[in-house]
Amino acid sequence: MFIGHYGPALAAPALVRTVPLWALFFAVQFIDVVWGVLILAGIEQVRIVPGFTAMSPLDLHHMPYTHSLPGALALSALLGLAYGLIARKARLAGGLLVAGASFSHWLLDLIVHAPDLLLWPGGPMAGFGLWDNLPLALGLEVALVLAGLIFYLRVTQAKGLIGRIWPFVLVAVLFALEAIHLLGEPPASAEELAMTSMAVFLVLTGLAAVADLTRKPRR
Ligand SMILES: [Zn+2]
Repeated sequence: MFIGHYGPALAAPALVRTVPLWALFFAVQFIDVVWGVLILAGIEQVRIVPGFTAMSPLDLHHMPYTHSLPGALALSALLGLAYGLIARKARLAGGLLVAGASFSHWLLDLIVHAPDLLLWPGGPMAGFGLWDNLPLALGLEVALVLAGLIFYLRVTQAKGLIGRIWPFVLVAVLFALEAIHLLGEPPASAEELAMTSMAVFLVLTGLAAVADLTRKPRR
């Protein structure tokens, strides 16, 4: 799962309107941000195997911390707590929403990944393997983003021209990234993969912040 993670981020303001979109864009990839750090540190491991699944060349054979069920729950709880501590309004609801957005990452990974998600220490690995079916996996990613966009447009309104077009710019950038991901060369190394992933997450978080500046909650 790549751009599909942003579906829950776009839909989440329908539940709690005080949480900025940039925080939700960061939250839904927080588990992968920590993953990128642990890959660079050599603590978690990935092999790049072209054709490993139809959709992704990543053999994510060792990620017992960020992508295990207890690890994902703990990271999501930590991020929700951090949000609750720094937020000025609706701290509890906002913290829960951010934690939920972060954990949605693991649930969506569970649908698409090969069995590489550890359920508990020493336990079995889970993953329903939808990445083996390219049309279905791609359809799910696109559908999640479009559904999220519909929610986002319903609960926010533009302050001006940029705010009117920006949600569509965001989604166009996501679709372009998905096309590059599918058609481009696989990354040359695990380090390159980790660095580019984290850079993309940060840029998308910045683009979401522009949506926050140019749109406001609908009353
Ligand atoms: Zn992930």
